[in-house]
Amino acid sequence: MDNKLTKIRRTFAAQLTAKHKLKLTIPNHDSSEATFELFLREMQQQLHKKLAKQNEQLLHESNGNSPLFIQKKQLQKDIEDFQLLEQRQDARAIQQLIERVEHMAMFNRKQDIGGIASSIQSSQLPNQPIVMSPIKLNSPLCSYRALCSELVERLNWPSEVFASEYDRCFCKTCYPLSMPNICQVNTGNKYPTIIPRNWMKFGLKVDGVQTKVHQIWDKWAVSYHGTVPSAALSMIKHRQICLPGDTLFDGTRLTIRLGHIPDQKAFFTSPTIRYAAQNHYATSIEFTSQIDKCVYTAKIVLRCRQMPDSFTVQGQTLNNSIQNDSDFCDLIPDDEIEWKTDKRGSVIFDGLCVHLKKVLTHENNFQQTTVHY
Ligand SMILES: [Zn+2]
Repeated sequence: MDNKLTKIRRTFAAQLTAKHKLKLTIPNHDSSEATFELFLREMQQQLHKKLAKQNEQLLHESNGNSPLFIQKKQLQKDIEDFQLLEQRQDARAIQQLIERVEHMAMFNRKQDIGGIASSIQSSQLPNQPIVMSPIKLNSPLCSYRALCSELVERLNWPSEVFASEYDRCFCKTCYPLSMPNICQVNTGNKYPTIIPRNWMKFGLKVDGVQTKVHQIWDKWAVSYHGTVPSAALSMIKHRQICLPGDTLFDGTRLTIRLGHIPDQKAFFTSPTIRYAAQNHYATSIEFTSQIDKCVYTAKIVLRCRQMPDSFTVQGQTLNNSIQNDSDFCDLIPDDEIEWKTDKRGSVIFDGLCVHLKKVLTHENNFQQTTVHY
């Protein structure tokens, strides 16, 4: 992980140098460690100087939405993020940052592949940094995010269960098609993380002891479990998965659902959200938004972290006629799409994913439309 962090620090520093147009030369990949350290120190100093200057300029600015104010907030956030990598304390935040830096690097590679070649050839200054276009992640203007937030507010869950700093929208605006479908962030984690495209993920709080003892952010696999809001909240409150036969807080005993194999006391997840959302239990809920007055069907899926090698990988057990005989997912074959476990402590929930599908527009409530985000 140390090597990985060193690389990420350097990549992030290069991204910040370009983004904030710093007067700095980004060292080549094969530069010495001392050169890199000098560069990192100088980069941080320039960011702080820039922030101080912007703070001064903003002394007489009362408009909290002015471009300079927004720029300053962004700069402040970048400085804090970089410090996160320096301090190496908050593993979860670092994990999230690594994903962001890697996505941005990949995006820039794709965007600038032609540009880099021509800028290297035509550049008068050989050491001039390559300017990378900043990418809009989780735009505050995303309407999908706003609608999903409205639904989650309507669920009326205790605010204590959420960790909003880990919210992330994967709609087409916030996570464009040019971004990867899959990411392999951790060297210790052999399972790929499949991006939940077109879903909005709300961060959930997790137990710090559990994450540290098991090195969850580094080692555990990402999976998804489709369910209904009441069952999801029940498991979040129990702080663990519930298996058939368990007696819940309210005294009810969990039974195996109709249509399921008798005596099968197991919990099912999937590495792909598309399959998890097809779960028999993950029934859609209908919701009318107060924002745009349209009617939506909503699905919710819990994002899980799952202990490696603690589950059985098996084929799909749903009726795949829904998918017209094609695989559920382009990345995971149908015969590896379901994970089964009966070990309660081996699954934790770190996100609530929401998907909305517009079924009725405000203008024409009788004409059915389907709009996919
Ligand atoms: Zn979005």
